[in-house]
Amino acid sequence: MAVGRVVISTVDEAEVTAFPVLTGVSRKGDVLTKAVIAESSRPLLLWQHTLAPGSQITWWNPSVGHVAYLWDGEAEADGKPLHKGGGALIIAHGGRAVLKAGNAPATILHFHRPEDHPVAPARAGGCSHVVNRVDTRRYILPETTGYLYAGASCPTCELWLHENAGGSAGKAPQHYHTEDEIIFIVGGSMIIGRRKLKPGAALAIDADTVYQFEAGEDGLAFINFRPCEPGIGMVENGRRGKPISELDATLDLIAKTEAGVPIIGGGKFTGAN
Ligand SMILES: [Zn+2]
Repeated sequence: MAVGRVVISTVDEAEVTAFPVLTGVSRKGDVLTKAVIAESSRPLLLWQHTLAPGSQITWWNPSVGHVAYLWDGEAEADGKPLHKGGGALIIAHGGRAVLKAGNAPATILHFHRPEDHPVAPARAGGCSHVVNRVDTRRYILPETTGYLYAGASCPTCELWLHENAGGSAGKAPQHYHTEDEIIFIVGGSMIIGRRKLKPGAALAIDADTVYQFEAGEDGLAFINFRPCEPGIGMVENGRRGKPISELDATLDLIAKTEAGVPIIGGGKFTGAN
């Protein structure tokens, strides 16, 4: 249901639907699809696919970039194992990849821009990447740890996926991003306004929408998809600060973390984000 510029949906409430008709994306075997964020007016879409053992999804020259995240079960991508709850397949427009369920079913979260989106990809595309959380660069903040799956180093795609996982003290201040995003909760709970979102909830937030949230007492872990590199701006006393490059801010936090410099507030975030 659309409320302003933030749409909240859950995989439990999402309707079962046919596998989406997308350029260069096909399935083989049994795949049960749910439309999590799929209204035609949305700037980003999210599907949940449950693949029976041995079933697969193939990307072959898609016209937009796609991200698939293994939320549960067993799968491999291009012959490399994806880690459950921490494995991502990034496919740029024009890229090629095959994701195949293992001996157990695989539950995949599948993010992309609609194919009729007015903004064309800015980079050449053609690439794909298998990235497990253990391979990501990370930043350690007092309340949360961030993992950058995609968004840093590829010259041919600008797809972005990061994950944050932290304890109960995390609180993101009022802020906004310059790109559309979908947040998907994978652990703990997120308190946003008067709602408490649990794993399986998706939050689609349009570009330039101001929001804030905090972690529940059971902590919070989420993944965050953007179609291209965002800026981030803080809001203080009701006034929007100028956005800065979220990539630069993230790389700065990663550099500090890798150098063993403790990060106390400031920087990109002052809490879980
Ligand atoms: Zn790439």
